[in-house]
Amino acid sequence: MTEGECSTLHSLFSQSETIVLCCHQNADGDALGAVLAVGEMLRQMGKEPVMVAPDQYPDYLQWLPNSERIVRYDKRKDYVDMVLKIADLVVCMDFNTLARTDQMEEALKASPAKKVLIDHHLDPDVDAVVKVSRPGASSTCELVFRVAWQLGVFELLGKHFAIPVYCGMMTDTGGFTYNSSNSDIYFIISQLLTKRIDKDKIYRNVYHNYSEHRLRMVGHVLCNCLVVDEERHAAFYTLSREDQKRFHFVKGDAEGLVNMPLQIKGLKLSISLREDTEKEMIWVSLRSVDNFPCNEVAARFFNGGGHLNASGGKLACTMAEAVDIVKQAFVAFEDRLT
Ligand code: 5GP
Ligand code: MN
Repeated sequence: MTEGECSTLHSLFSQSETIVLCCHQNADGDALGAVLAVGEMLRQMGKEPVMVAPDQYPDYLQWLPNSERIVRYDKRKDYVDMVLKIADLVVCMDFNTLARTDQMEEALKASPAKKVLIDHHLDPDVDAVVKVSRPGASSTCELVFRVAWQLGVFELLGKHFAIPVYCGMMTDTGGFTYNSSNSDIYFIISQLLTKRIDKDKIYRNVYHNYSEHRLRMVGHVLCNCLVVDEERHAAFYTLSREDQKRFHFVKGDAEGLVNMPLQIKGLKLSISLREDTEKEMIWVSLRSVDNFPCNEVAARFFNGGGHLNASGGKLACTMAEAVDIVKQAFVAFEDRLT
């Protein structure tokens, strides 16, 4: 942040009485981590922010300290609408457009509160007084650390700040295996470790915290539902509603699965098609390596977008139709895949 942005942010934080912190729907470790970390920072500054997630967040994140304080918009709409009406400040984290908050979008638009954006997605489109939008950053949590550092409050903060920040940085980089070659990341980690966090335990809490059903589902999908287009260095798999039922699927169980086909030598693009449990809709996740832009594929074929190597979208159609669209996408991008 420039000095001007830093001092504006400092006065916004210290002068606002009612502060709402929110993230995108289907919150992941980075989104939830950012909300929890900024929540902790503001509490240390004497505030009582209201932390909101648009909807359910995954089971594998429920161990995060203070996550029980997060209010779900889908469960407590009236309360959150009321708070948004009287709020002075809304901090929007880990999304670039209000539409990513889904059902909360209208209430956020209607709120008279000033907005602050802290995000690392491309093309920010949020009307904010201060925009900390850095598409080059590994994660929103990295930006939250930088904000705390620059505001000079990091010294005051403890584990309840450092744990969610580490969790968000770790999950958005697949445990520091992609998008994580900036040396600043390791400076930040070394600072977080001074707060006596157990980073190995955070790893286990996130990645070794699944049910037996989930592990068996991964085996089933990789063995029976994965289709590899060897020629085009691309693969996709389907995860049907039936299989989700069979393996007692809970939110978060698909996490990391879409990265696995990229373990195949030479593969550049992996696409996951997951049937919604209720609606006729397919959730699409895309992952790529090197400079193959899966966000372009997401935007052109799957009503979505995202980062160069990690994107998402959705299709309102049947699984069979979605499979056809994936095949068309492989053909359309074959020049850049081969
Ligand atoms: P995931 O596959 O984990 O759901 O999403 C990966 C990334 O893709 C997210 O971090 C987000 O940046 C982006 N993304 C997911 N769904 C959408 C979507 O519907 N629209 C846009 N623009 N980006 C998405
Ligand atoms: Mn993120």
